[in-house]
Amino acid sequence: MQIEPGVSLKPYNTFGLPAVAGQLVRIRSEADARAVVDHPELGLAPKFVLGGGSNVILTRDMPELVLKVEIPGMRLVAETDRAVIVEFGAGERWHDAVAWTLDQGWPGLENMALIPGTVGAAPVQNIGAYGLELQDRFESLDTVDLVTGRTVTLNAAQCKFAYRDSIFKRALAGKSLITRVRLRLPKRWQPVLGYLDLERKMEETGKHQPDARTIFDWVCSIRRAKLPDPAQIGNVGSFFKNPVVTPEQCRDIIARDPHVVHYPLEDGRFKLAAGWLIDACGWKGKTVGHAGVYDKQALVLVNRGGAIGSEVQTLARAIQESVYGRFGIRLEMEPVMV
Ligand SMILES: Cc1cc2nc3c(=O)[nH]c(=O)nc-3n(C[C@H](O)[C@H](O)[C@H](O)COP(=O)(O)OP(=O)(O)OC[C@H]3O[C@@H](n4cnc5c(N)ncnc54)[C@H](O)[C@@H]3O)c2cc1C
Repeated sequence: MQIEPGVSLKPYNTFGLPAVAGQLVRIRSEADARAVVDHPELGLAPKFVLGGGSNVILTRDMPELVLKVEIPGMRLVAETDRAVIVEFGAGERWHDAVAWTLDQGWPGLENMALIPGTVGAAPVQNIGAYGLELQDRFESLDTVDLVTGRTVTLNAAQCKFAYRDSIFKRALAGKSLITRVRLRLPKRWQPVLGYLDLERKMEETGKHQPDARTIFDWVCSIRRAKLPDPAQIGNVGSFFKNPVVTPEQCRDIIARDPHVVHYPLEDGRFKLAAGWLIDACGWKGKTVGHAGVYDKQALVLVNRGGAIGSEVQTLARAIQESVYGRFGIRLEMEPVMV
């Protein structure tokens, strides 16, 4: 195990924020994670687990020991009449995992193509896109407890998945390091197409029964057109969750503005489009310091060049306050603010 002192984290977060880790250790296996916990000094140090840095806002240098997860591996672990179970090392890039399953002839993840970051972070906020969430394909995962060093396997119920949420953002936040993730891909594949952008693609191309590879290509092209590429413009994707409200709250908001974009949920509640709320408050294209709101999509905050974490924090809070002032809705941030 190599301890790297004074490591710049700027290349390791997609917003491109400056921060220095006092000490950083690369975790390339489960044994590496256990070795850190068993280490006489490092074992006691506060720790921060870092994947691809595409969902963190670094507002300060990191006195914590940064554990950068780089565990490799993609393999088939089981096959039944109904499904294949595949396992990934937590350090694999999520998009590479999606592409690999398709190359093997196992569809099921295509709607989540091109989401940045690592496989190990995917369960943390139960990533999702274009009508599919990680929990829809999840089998189980392994973690190393960062206090005891014990390996623990969790199933979906134990992970407590919810919309952009899981036990890893709550009771287990900062307490465990995910080392391996197993996904279940059903052999009787059904395309997931009930999403406006995908419906438009079907109309444009005349392909009404697209295969998984076609959906993968569509999702990649839609995402490239809509979202800024972090390699060009620093960002962390959607900055706020879409708020979920009761029918009464929804009626109240519609009374304030009848154009508010809202979708009914199966449980009777409504999901509001956070991007629309932010846009309605006049934030699209605005800048605070060196951070700003993306001109094409108000849900995405961007680095206009040289931004620091506290500027992003100030901008995010100002947006929250104005949305609360106008609509009475508290927007919840999606990325982890450190
Ligand atoms: C352009 C863009 C588009 C995006 N689109 C989407 C989208 O469509 N849907 C979506 O859900 N998200 C999206 N995101 C957000 C982000 O890609 C996901 O949340 C991703 O899963 C984060 O992965 P990461 O490896 O970069 O995690 P990091 O940013 O490194 O970490 C995020 C959190 O997970 C924890 N963590 C990371 N790895 C581990 C591990 N192995 N064990 C325990 N905890 C860990 C960290 O401590 C931190 O709290 C987007 C981001 C960008 C930049």
